[in-house]
Amino acid sequence: MDVKFIYNFNLGDFVVTVMKFGGTSVGDGKRIRNVAKIAINKKKEDKDVVVVTSAMTQITNSLVEISKQALDVRDIAKINNFMEEIKEKHENAIVDAIKDDKIRDDVRKIIQSSIDELEKVLIGVAYLGELTPKSKDYILSFGERLSAPILSGAIRDLGNDSLFLTGGEAGIITDDNYGCARPLKLEVKQRITPLLNENIIPVITGFIGGTEKGEITTFGRGGSDYSAALVGAGLEADMVEIWTDVSGILTSDPRIVENVRRIPKMSYIEAMELAYFGAKVLHPRTVEPLMEKNIPLRIKNTFEPENEGTLITNDQELSDNVIKAISTIKDVFLINIFGAGMVGVSGTAARIFSALGRANANVILITQGSSETNISIVIYGDGIEAENCMKELKNEFKNSHLIKDISLDGDVCVVSAVGAGMKGSRGIAGELFKAVAESGANIKMIAQGSSEVNISFVIGEDELEKCLKTLHKTFIEK
Ligand code: ADP
Ligand code: ASP
Ligand code: MG
Repeated sequence: MDVKFIYNFNLGDFVVTVMKFGGTSVGDGKRIRNVAKIAINKKKEDKDVVVVTSAMTQITNSLVEISKQALDVRDIAKINNFMEEIKEKHENAIVDAIKDDKIRDDVRKIIQSSIDELEKVLIGVAYLGELTPKSKDYILSFGERLSAPILSGAIRDLGNDSLFLTGGEAGIITDDNYGCARPLKLEVKQRITPLLNENIIPVITGFIGGTEKGEITTFGRGGSDYSAALVGAGLEADMVEIWTDVSGILTSDPRIVENVRRIPKMSYIEAMELAYFGAKVLHPRTVEPLMEKNIPLRIKNTFEPENEGTLITNDQELSDNVIKAISTIKDVFLINIFGAGMVGVSGTAARIFSALGRANANVILITQGSSETNISIVIYGDGIEAENCMKELKNEFKNSHLIKDISLDGDVCVVSAVGAGMKGSRGIAGELFKAVAESGANIKMIAQGSSEVNISFVIGEDELEKCLKTLHKTFIEK
């Protein structure tokens, strides 16, 4: 693709909205056309619009699956079948999203060339028997690299000029930490402003950044929200909107609790804590770049555009409920480390964390008992990650008398109650734990973040559903 960069940018007169659409929002051709209309309608309100899109629903999952199979099974026929399926899905989307034959053909060419490229990479993985983090990111990036040209084509088909760009082309420059890249600098303003000047609606692939050398990186699963925040921060946009399949941030996970409600307003800190502690609707890194620049964030429902959704700003507006929402993370394990030898011995915690660092552990919660004889740590991940952590910890302390026992509990989950009203609200922890006990759950660990807008605790996974429902009834439906 040929993008001309003209460096006479001036954003002074623009009112820019960044609109990010998730996987279900662009789940098929009709939905893609609907999303194109939503973007154009926003532009008609005299706003400049920059679109960030996810891959079509399930495509990233299927890319994860096929890259594993290419590595493990090395069955070329499987790769060929997969290529046929992915081609058919995107061809159907082109036909339903775009009416004009010429635009259809233009988009088809782009899609075909990406599909050929993907096939070569997968066959390469199968022959080499090697899947590096770099090649995995490259493979996963195809989801968004296939959806973005179709959405951009649909916008053109509906009468507004549009251009699609990868995250790297849009100026999101990252380090080479594949799978969880960090932005190094944002050249978004330089790259996008000339397009806005020409009334073009840019469609940027979510989830993807690019290194200085032009290598593709990703921000981790669900990372398109974060891409939208980076584009918004880079452009100093007036608003970032995350368009998804629910009507905003809800009081709990609607897949577990029935009577959830929409939360009309939240502060950045509350949204950040909720996202960090498992509310899938928002990628945990999304809020930070926006909070830094005080850019408001709105969560909207693609299938109910008139609903106001949730507005997230700097305002610490208190609601009637002290606890505004309850979230949960299921893919975690708990490690307990015991030993009287830890009392007064400096450096033990440092050794624990360097061992966990070697295992690449993503630590979520830590507590140390007041007697200093035990440390509990909750880590994100599954059986393989748990095994790695245990191996490193046992190695670190194998000939030491400091640690008596290291135990692992994999069947646990974290529950977090979030609300700015909890700050300084006396007795709330007591009421919360009373309700947890009433639900029959047994608390294995408790932690309160320093922001004081969140109390988190760990219970058994089989106790989760009842506990969440009880807490929701007691504190939100009351
Ligand atoms: P997208 O594909 O649009 O990025 P996601 O599936 O990543 O959408 O996130 C939206 C989903 O998050 C919802 O369908 C809902 O099931 C789930 N979810 C979990 N907790 C919450 C919550 N507190 N509020 C809203 N949605 C939530
Ligand atoms: N497509 C990516 C994923 O499924 C990123 C995203 O949708 O946010 O994880
Ligand atoms: Mg998401």
